[in-house]
Amino acid sequence: TRKFIVGGNFKMNGSVSSLNTLIEGLNQGDLDSNVEIVVSPPFVYLDQVRKSVRKDIAVAGQNCYHKTSGAYTGEVAPEMLKDLGIEWVILGHSERREIFKESDDEIGAKVAHALKTGLKVMACVGESLEEREANKTTEVVFRQLAAIAKQINDWSDVVVAYEPVWAIGTGKVATPDQAQEVHKAIREWLSTNVSAETAAATRIMYGGSVNAGNASTLAKEEDVDGFLVGGASLKPEFVTICNAKA
Ligand code: 13P
Repeated sequence: TRKFIVGGNFKMNGSVSSLNTLIEGLNQGDLDSNVEIVVSPPFVYLDQVRKSVRKDIAVAGQNCYHKTSGAYTGEVAPEMLKDLGIEWVILGHSERREIFKESDDEIGAKVAHALKTGLKVMACVGESLEEREANKTTEVVFRQLAAIAKQINDWSDVVVAYEPVWAIGTGKVATPDQAQEVHKAIREWLSTNVSAETAAATRIMYGGSVNAGNASTLAKEEDVDGFLVGGASLKPEFVTICNAKA
């Protein structure tokens, strides 16, 4: 059985004081102990959040580079996240792919390096609206997965986050059927291209306009093993989303 996992991707939001308030609220929240919870603030607040958040909530970086150290101005090594006591990193988010032009291969290299460093990875995949309308959803998602699979052997520290780009920050959440269809396809892809054991064990989170109102219906789908939450993770309703499976 796959433990339900909910991530809060704060993106480029927050301040020392607003994150103190947010984390205080989470620390006091009545959280389902059967759910794994991970919060992901901007790099500069990682240490603050890790030190202040309750111990049953893990912390993730929102990105990292595929090198250990060196002349890469502005980048952060996965070794640095580990050094800070950070357990997770989000990689391949659509905003990294689109705005910062990260390629499939670069993301594959980042996932491989982060895993080697001992971080757990939330690897994001997902199609744009144009791609969905051209019936290319699985083609795109499989291509993104293949670029990762090419560079890693062991998926035990990887969680896949399916985030259709058209659902991110738009209020247009995927229907439970739409999410389930792609999650099932991802699991079948893992079975064919990695192993049946990996397919059965790997958690697949859904991300894109998840909120307190739609989370519990989505959570009922067989292949939805969690959520990666953006906007709503900055609000008190994040606690409700974390408890959506209960
Ligand atoms: P929203 O929940 O704001 O749509 O963002 C989803 C997301 O990108 C999480 O990584």
